[in-house]
Amino acid sequence: MSENETIKTTCVVAGAGPAGLMLGFLLARAGVDVTVVEKHADFLRDFRGDTIHPSTLQVIEELGLMDDFLALPHTRAEKLSAEMDGRTVTIADFSKLPVKNRFIAFMPQWDFLNFLAAQASRYPNFRLIMQAEVTEIRERNGRVIGLSVRTPEREIDIDAELVVGADGRNSIVRTKAGLTIESFGVPSEVVWMKLSKQVGDPNEVMGHAGPRQGFVLIDRGEYWQCGLVIRKTTFAEIKSQGIEAFRKMVADVSPLPADRVEELRSFDDTSLLTVRIDRLAQWWRPGLICIGDAAHAMSPIGGVGVNLAIQDAVATANILAAPLREGRLADADLAAVEKRRSFPTKATQKMQLMMRSSRRKDKGDDQKRKGPPAFIRGIARWPVLAHLAGRLMGMGFRMEHVKATKSHA
Ligand SMILES: Cc1cc2nc3c(=O)[nH]c(=O)nc-3n(C[C@H](O)[C@H](O)[C@H](O)COP(=O)(O)OP(=O)(O)OC[C@H]3O[C@@H](n4cnc5c(N)ncnc54)[C@H](O)[C@@H]3O)c2cc1C
Repeated sequence: MSENETIKTTCVVAGAGPAGLMLGFLLARAGVDVTVVEKHADFLRDFRGDTIHPSTLQVIEELGLMDDFLALPHTRAEKLSAEMDGRTVTIADFSKLPVKNRFIAFMPQWDFLNFLAAQASRYPNFRLIMQAEVTEIRERNGRVIGLSVRTPEREIDIDAELVVGADGRNSIVRTKAGLTIESFGVPSEVVWMKLSKQVGDPNEVMGHAGPRQGFVLIDRGEYWQCGLVIRKTTFAEIKSQGIEAFRKMVADVSPLPADRVEELRSFDDTSLLTVRIDRLAQWWRPGLICIGDAAHAMSPIGGVGVNLAIQDAVATANILAAPLREGRLADADLAAVEKRRSFPTKATQKMQLMMRSSRRKDKGDDQKRKGPPAFIRGIARWPVLAHLAGRLMGMGFRMEHVKATKSHA
């Protein structure tokens, strides 16, 4: 291995997920020299969430990229539904939101990330290094001054005014920085799998369906992305009972024809998401800040993770672009980012925890387990609440807007 290379940049971002790429793009657009490092060679991963909510669509609109974005393959939902007592109930309605694009766009995350990377690459002051894994943060006198990354060819030291940890829910940046994580127990896991889409299937774009609930169905065009909600740590037990027992479990809750589950050949056709809700007690240290899942892992309820990550990126760029460009970044600027994004994060997590606990209470015994959770019963009773749910899900508790800036492309 050859000797270490050193790169100097103004801002180095760890992780090219939605948060990292959007931040890199916005900072480059605002004239900041920015380097994003990503440990993978490409964006092709397992299912990671496909939901591009109205708040994110608004950001894309404000960036003038809507036509390019909508040219990519996607499906749309103006409403989300769930099954209750054999009938379909609208649980979130986006059709009256005060934004231009009143729908959720379902788009594979790799397409979205490739799109952001391509847009960002138009700026000469944007650099994306793939297959570059962060191994250490570099510090001097208590201040973070950069990152060390490992590529297949060499180790690279990156000097920067600011390090941004956007490296997801298992962030090495937040661990190495010694930031304190507060966790909130949520005892569930989601088993994700694909089932083919065929003529005569239900007309769902995304929903909890089935008489016992706990099954999510997302229309991915040619197939259904399906998620089965199970109690935490029970997947090993489920696996020990074999694939046939698992197929039956899925068939019992799925609205698709029972024989569709034959497509699950083995547990290799599934992937497990441990549902975790946590957040950092403080998102920053001198010279470093975390955003997106690295600052707060969300439950999949409402599919808000990608969208909160994007909102964090917009707020971070709005607050930090000028101080970074002008070389006057202060701790107070980092504190201002946390202050701005802390309320929507806490409020969303609180809502997710309330929804989970209402679901748990409903599952006191097997009979009750068959009913839908309390919040769905509430919306079924007062349909106007579907608009409120649509607003909270689609726009969040605090929607960010892209600051006008002179384009530096
Ligand atoms: C199975 C699953 C299903 C989900 N479903 C949904 C959904 O339906 N809707 C929704 O909104 N959200 C969903 N989420 C959550 C969503 O994926 C995240 O909230 C969102 O991607 C967070 O974006 P982020 O940029 O903060 O982090 P991430 O998307 O996790 O991106 C972090 C990036 O950092 C990179 N990285 C990690 N460590 C290093 C390192 N040491 N060095 C360099 N790079 C590193 C990773 O490779 C990754 O590219 C789901 C998540 C999972 C796992």
